[in-house]
Amino acid sequence: MASAFSNSRFHDEAAAFKALEAIIWPEGPTCPHCGAVDRINRLENQKTKASKKHPEGKHIHGLWKCYHCRGKFTVRKGTVFEDSPLELHLWFQAAFLMCSSKKGVSANQLHRTLGCTLKTAWFVGHRLREAMRDGGFAVPFGSTGGMVEVDETYIGHQKGKPKKRAFHHKMKVLTLVDRETRQARSVVVENIRPATIAPILRQNMAREARLMTDEAGHYLHIGREFADHEIVRHGQEEYVRGEAHTNTMLNCARARSKGRRTGEVLIVTSALTIAEVLWLKGGPKLPQEKLTVLRKFFRRSFIRVVNVTRTISEDAQDVVWNNNIKPKDAIHVATAINLKIGVLETFDGHLLGQTGTIGSPPLIIRKPIAPKQGDLGL
Ligand SMILES: [Zn+2]
Repeated sequence: MASAFSNSRFHDEAAAFKALEAIIWPEGPTCPHCGAVDRINRLENQKTKASKKHPEGKHIHGLWKCYHCRGKFTVRKGTVFEDSPLELHLWFQAAFLMCSSKKGVSANQLHRTLGCTLKTAWFVGHRLREAMRDGGFAVPFGSTGGMVEVDETYIGHQKGKPKKRAFHHKMKVLTLVDRETRQARSVVVENIRPATIAPILRQNMAREARLMTDEAGHYLHIGREFADHEIVRHGQEEYVRGEAHTNTMLNCARARSKGRRTGEVLIVTSALTIAEVLWLKGGPKLPQEKLTVLRKFFRRSFIRVVNVTRTISEDAQDVVWNNNIKPKDAIHVATAINLKIGVLETFDGHLLGQTGTIGSPPLIIRKPIAPKQGDLGL
């Protein structure tokens, strides 16, 4: 595969102009001064005035002249690339980096990669982020009654604050994620007090929205202003509760602040599993101490045992009939679907063959990656 940067627009200034003109003016140039579309001519071989850096003057790319208003312009006029000495192909590189990076790109990184000054890199980063911001905060999140996750994260170092324990000196960022449109908005806040958070939520969320937060106290009061307020308890083992999981957000926060809250994995299993595991095919009856180990294992904080409810049983019945799966396996499938868990791990060959055929979105059924069966030492 060719390098993403092999396209000439990333290293050739003339090609970069050509590419931008094709995007902005698919029908041919338009004068940004008077709006004319005819009597516009390209000015070739134009140079800037001689300077110390360019004693012979620098070639001006993509210059046009309008003979209606006699104004000169390039395609950069009126775009985010206007009024910047940085060459257009470097802007393209910056935009590419920022769009292809999961965690965003810092000004320092742009400065090193593009070889421009830090000041220019900072400017480029801000302009491109501003251009990428969609909707201009116009449409409030959750306006169709959808779920909006809100969580805070602490990053970097707030200027002028002495370094202290925990997060006191860090910058506080409030993030809202619209689960339906999959858009996120982050706001840097002075503190995480209810009085600070409430106006931000009011401004960015529709009243019909269903709010989802962790159990932190600062969301309790404002939560009453929305259609619903669902709380996920990170402190306890409840990590995936039907639709309510701040996992989307945590992934976002996790990618941003390295390794924050890592190791928080939750295994969800049906209560049926306990009965199944304790029944060892044809083997001798489990000694009491091993039984205790096993029971203890299922009480570990990262395991959530889900009861077989009437709803799950009814869903399982459908799975038995529609997918020709044995009732006990159908219970596991129905539990996963019911809790909106995307992956079911099993060693059962027949069940493995049904991956991608049940539920919407289709449930992935795969072999456990880790730990292996038998790791319990039984
Ligand atoms: Zn004009």
